[in-house]
Amino acid sequence: MPIHLLSSEVASQIAAGEVVERPASVVKELLENALDAGAIKISITIEGAGQRVIEVADNGCGIPIDELAIAVERHSTSKLSTAEELFRIKSLGFRGEALASIGSVSRMTLTSRPEDVAVGARLRVEGGQAGKAGPIGVPQGTVVRVEDLFYNVPARRKFLKSDTTERRQIDKLVTRYALAYPQVRFQLRQENRNNLQTSGNGDRREVLAALYGVEIARQMLEVLAGDERLRLSGYISPTSLTRANRREITFFVNGRPIQDPALSTAVVKAYHTMLMVGRYPLAILFLEIPPEAVDVNVHPTKAEVRFLDSRSIFTGVRDAVRRAPLAHTPIPELGDQLVWTPRPWVDSISPAGSSTHRMDPASELTGERDLETRPPLSSPLLPSQTELPVQRVPLLRLVGQVASAYLVAEGPDGLYLVDQHAAHERVLFERFMALHGLADENSERSAIPAQALLQPVTVDFSPASARMLTEQLPVLVKLGFQVELFGPGTFLVRAVPSLLSGIDPEAALRVLVEEFEEDETPLKAEVEARIIARICQRAAVKAGQVLSEEEQRALLSDLEACHSPRTCPHGRPTMIHLSVDLLERQFGRRGSR
Ligand code: ADP
Ligand code: MG
Repeated sequence: MPIHLLSSEVASQIAAGEVVERPASVVKELLENALDAGAIKISITIEGAGQRVIEVADNGCGIPIDELAIAVERHSTSKLSTAEELFRIKSLGFRGEALASIGSVSRMTLTSRPEDVAVGARLRVEGGQAGKAGPIGVPQGTVVRVEDLFYNVPARRKFLKSDTTERRQIDKLVTRYALAYPQVRFQLRQENRNNLQTSGNGDRREVLAALYGVEIARQMLEVLAGDERLRLSGYISPTSLTRANRREITFFVNGRPIQDPALSTAVVKAYHTMLMVGRYPLAILFLEIPPEAVDVNVHPTKAEVRFLDSRSIFTGVRDAVRRAPLAHTPIPELGDQLVWTPRPWVDSISPAGSSTHRMDPASELTGERDLETRPPLSSPLLPSQTELPVQRVPLLRLVGQVASAYLVAEGPDGLYLVDQHAAHERVLFERFMALHGLADENSERSAIPAQALLQPVTVDFSPASARMLTEQLPVLVKLGFQVELFGPGTFLVRAVPSLLSGIDPEAALRVLVEEFEEDETPLKAEVEARIIARICQRAAVKAGQVLSEEEQRALLSDLEACHSPRTCPHGRPTMIHLSVDLLERQFGRRGSR
């Protein structure tokens, strides 16, 4: 094919692809326009998961009738005129692309009236073709209605996730903006249901409950730190509240949501040694820095930025965040008379302002090794009980328990130290999987016996999580849980799997929701195994729990009976073996080293 210029239609669809990836991206652009217009009230209406209708109405400054047509052209903006201004950007928009892009992949209607004008105007754009602007009587402000998104780009439609996922994306996005702009009244209606309504009274805590649910919102710690070079505010979770991934760490930089692995790493580092391996905090943080210290023009959706001095931002964020969980990590109660309270984790944390804790920012920023440390699913989680050679452990003789966490046992070839938590996790997991495997695929009933709770327990969730949990209730039944919707956002746990009878029902339900939120995992069996592994982890005896001799013995023999006794379902070892040979060498009875 000879080289030729693309038609403007194709060119604009290609360009639109960068900005408008899914319904939530349309919502984001329209929200940002409303905020830039100074709106203090923004209503969002979604139908058909955003594919049928996305409407954003604001009470901002409006667009004059003679500017409507130009507003929907590519590279048209009222927010910037020279390139130098790019480094002093105070508005969210500046690329002048959103309306043009959205208009080229949908049927868009723009209705607007500036404050000082008597009548408003309306303009329709269909697949990039703009009609003529005509007068119309409307309230002050702007309404952008986007219908039939991607109707002319069927390939895009195919890439959209399930309606539930797309709706959830919109929920999350709007809730986060509502938190970033607490002085603005947000209303989000999806499929004729009120998903979010904020008062706009400036109180962030109120919005926090919409994001996380009442219970978690109450526990979140407030962060407020910095100077004129870097100001950080927002919320982070206490060390007792964690997630299996970093997805709940969100940043706004100068009022715009930013994805930046280095910033998330800074938060994770702030919790250094305070969280279990593979667990991550929740955080929503608002970073304010001088506009000239950040380049916002590096990504079409403005989702990434480049910092002039990323090193000082990184350390600034880490140190500010660190102070909050430190201040709130409970110090073990040791009785009244005791003045000195040891805090074992203090050693590993440099005191604020000290330079002893040197960091190499390059390795910090690029060495993303611990990012998303979900263990590989194939090997440890699903011990394929038929194919793999069964890796038995030898018969063990119990010697005792150490530090209320490890069992000491003797085997024919030396000493075994068994991690009681990991071991119990493995035992529960294999029992659970064995029962689960008996279930008939098509039957509605579970093969997992349920045990009714003496006292049913109620658990609260954020609106988004609650909707998802409602959809997943049948899965819970299969796993031996009896859970029902009790009120808006509230669920009643009536029964738990009898295998896990000791489990805290609320903790179990939260773990399940967390797992469901890990959407779109390919293999169903793997998802189930993952979920089961997580609840077994919850139900297993903890380190620090004193076990009777009988319990210790039972745990060892249960472990001996497992198919893959040497690791927990998440791949961590259940035992350490010190061979007689090793002992002899260590005691200098044989060889030199
Ligand atoms: P950008 O936001 O990057 O300037 P857009 O394509 O999103 O580009 O919007 C183009 C222009 O249309 C904006 O610069 C602004 O002047 C006007 N505009 C868009 N939405 C609104 C709104 N809700 N209220 C007032 N003006 C708007
Ligand atoms: Mg814009």
